[in-house]
Amino acid sequence: MTKNPYYVWISEIMLQQTRVEAVKGYYSRFLEEIPDVMSLARISEERLLKLWEGLGYYNRARNLQRAAIRIMEEYQGEFPKEYEQVLDLPGIGEYTAGAICSICYNLPTPAVDGNVLRVMTRVSEWNACIDDASTKKMAREILLVLYEEGNCSDLTQALMELGAVICIPNGEPKCQECPLRAMCMARKNHTYANLPVRKEKQQRRIEKKTVFVLRANGQYGIRKRADKGLLAGMWEFPHVDSNMTPSEAMTYLSKQGLEPVLLEREVPYTHIFSHVEWRMKAYYIACQNQCKELNWVAYEDLEETYALPTAFKAFLEKEL
Ligand code: SF4
Repeated sequence: MTKNPYYVWISEIMLQQTRVEAVKGYYSRFLEEIPDVMSLARISEERLLKLWEGLGYYNRARNLQRAAIRIMEEYQGEFPKEYEQVLDLPGIGEYTAGAICSICYNLPTPAVDGNVLRVMTRVSEWNACIDDASTKKMAREILLVLYEEGNCSDLTQALMELGAVICIPNGEPKCQECPLRAMCMARKNHTYANLPVRKEKQQRRIEKKTVFVLRANGQYGIRKRADKGLLAGMWEFPHVDSNMTPSEAMTYLSKQGLEPVLLEREVPYTHIFSHVEWRMKAYYIACQNQCKELNWVAYEDLEETYALPTAFKAFLEKEL
């Protein structure tokens, strides 16, 4: 694994709540265009979000840039080398700071994430809930004792790899290939399926939406979301928070200063966020004019320039 802190930082942020396979393409594209802290600090937010498009959690991308600007201003562009300095950067928590400092600088700074907690709770049949901050704190304290000078980078990477590849979350862990099998209590007592203990997930809130994929003079009408909240600052197709019939949709658009001439088709799509589920229905509508309230852009520009979150990009793909 690379020991370049910039690379480790970007990969760890991308990997939060996303699988390695899903991130690979994003990671190489990102580094090709933004190879270092200086280029990250200088890139336009619009382009940054475009490169992040599809990964979700867009504030993470913004925090990357905020942190890069701080590194330029406070550390002359060189990635800080002390745990507390790294932890102090925007968007970097204990896990990421621990991973960067142990992997890149060989410091005894445990990186405790879901993978590592799964291994730890199974090996010792530890029944504490891993969603509790106190469990993570205790895990860090236990690991601190295990970190030996000179071997910190290897230990962090070994634990991460073990959790990601051998002691897997869904399905049966690959105990036969596990170097910890001789000491593992969960393997011995066949309790691995019950570990780790998690809090019950809250039900997602369901929101209904009618989305308008409007086309006029060969261009599509889009608008920018508010600066705060879900998908802040991203582009979107206009929509309303209700389930409209086709005739209600046409009437609504007429009241918005548009002249809708043809409802070409209707496409349903559900997008799931962590706490909310959008049940959407899109109407693809040809219009005679372009209203001032929307930005009208060509299909190619929507593809290449404007950052459309997956919830809306799905309709663009269905347009082909
Ligand atoms: S022996 Fe099996 S359950 Fe125990 S840590 Fe290894 S893979 Fe996980």
